[in-house]
Amino acid sequence: MEPLEQRTNDEARGRRKKPSPKSHTVKVNESLCKGCLKCISTCPMGVLVVEESSSSIFGLVARVEAQECCIGCMTCELNCPDFAVVVDYEAREVKE
Ligand code: SF4
Ligand code: SF4
Repeated sequence: MEPLEQRTNDEARGRRKKPSPKSHTVKVNESLCKGCLKCISTCPMGVLVVEESSSSIFGLVARVEAQECCIGCMTCELNCPDFAVVVDYEAREVKE
């Protein structure tokens, strides 16, 4: 993994705190994600990380690593330029 991706993941994990008292589900649609890192860099709870992918434009995709820490703030969803990340996916009955 390149230094930028490693640093992005280290910073995200550094922001991670105790589990959220209310559960939220976050889902990344990997077929839409281009790996721009915006959701990962802006998530205040470090829920998301980046990993390599041979199928995305930038060779990267976001992955949910700490679902239990999500506070449902929607920052990731609002920052995604490709509508690839959705919060409380099941409750909103989002179609793929
Ligand atoms: S909803 Fe907020 S806390 Fe949850 S993954 Fe998105 S940015 Fe992070
Ligand atoms: S902001 Fe969207 S496109 Fe960018 S890494 Fe996150 S899910 Fe993927």
